[in-house]
Amino acid sequence: MARPAAPGDETTAAKAVYCGRFAPSPTGPLHFGSLIAALGSYLDARVAGGKWLVRMEDLDRPREVPGAADAILRTLETCGFQWDGQVLRQSTRTRAYAQAIERLSEAGLVFPCACSRREIAASGRPGVDGPIYPGTCRRRPPPGTGARSLRLRTEQGNLLVRDRIQGELHQDLAREVGDFVLRRADGIHAYQLAVVVDDGFQGINQVVRGADLLTSTPRQLYLFRALRLLVPTYAHLPLVVDGAGRKLGKSHAAAPVDPDAPLPTLLRAWDFLGQKPFPEPPADLAEFWTQARSAWRMDRVPSRPSRSLPTG
Ligand code: GLU
Repeated sequence: MARPAAPGDETTAAKAVYCGRFAPSPTGPLHFGSLIAALGSYLDARVAGGKWLVRMEDLDRPREVPGAADAILRTLETCGFQWDGQVLRQSTRTRAYAQAIERLSEAGLVFPCACSRREIAASGRPGVDGPIYPGTCRRRPPPGTGARSLRLRTEQGNLLVRDRIQGELHQDLAREVGDFVLRRADGIHAYQLAVVVDDGFQGINQVVRGADLLTSTPRQLYLFRALRLLVPTYAHLPLVVDGAGRKLGKSHAAAPVDPDAPLPTLLRAWDFLGQKPFPEPPADLAEFWTQARSAWRMDRVPSRPSRSLPTG
């Protein structure tokens, strides 16, 4: 069976012209947690003289909130973010994901799976992201042609992610995550696959995003290697949590960024990212961006994976 390239096989693209991105999912309006990812990724790219792309991760149509994608883009514009090129929408990329699965299948890395969530929960051990797949269909292909997902074979061995903020993360995919889904039983391609195919397609070499995705990164590294794509450098920003330590996400009805008053929110995001207060408070958005671009320092971002919201 062909195996993904060994660690160290890939050339990292860190020395190429910086190409970063912001990749929101249109499951609600832009909230403060997403603004943090937008601001960190944008400033880091612009200060490096790099490109900053926006990709709409609208794969999961059943979870999409109508109008959310446009609302997110409008809020970004109102805040003064300027992206390069066209927004890439994952809903237009189904063929590319299918082709990637074909390549992985040719390498002997894909198998169909007929297990239900309940079966996996009952027989899998707890892992870093839900129960670890117990290997049922990997050992014995499912009978019949019923609805099934496609999974990627993982293998034992240490994967190392060197994160610019969080330091080193070691993960053994087979032991800690298990064979993971590439295409769900409902036909929707999985985030892990789509994000790698698209980061590769768009030439992204620097990923700056929320620390909720830190434990997904080894899965993505494994896929980058298996698809022989350049592995980006990662920086995982602290996650905004509420007073009770819960992730501030759309699911917790986080307050959307007010498009009518973006400056105070941008200043709170700046503060949240551990940046030095401005000598003079910026009078308007243009001044905010000028000052932010000259003062941004990634090494000031706190390495705690989560922080509660600043008050005020
Ligand atoms: N679409 C993901 C989200 O909104 C982010 C994916 C990524 O940055 O890799 O949480």
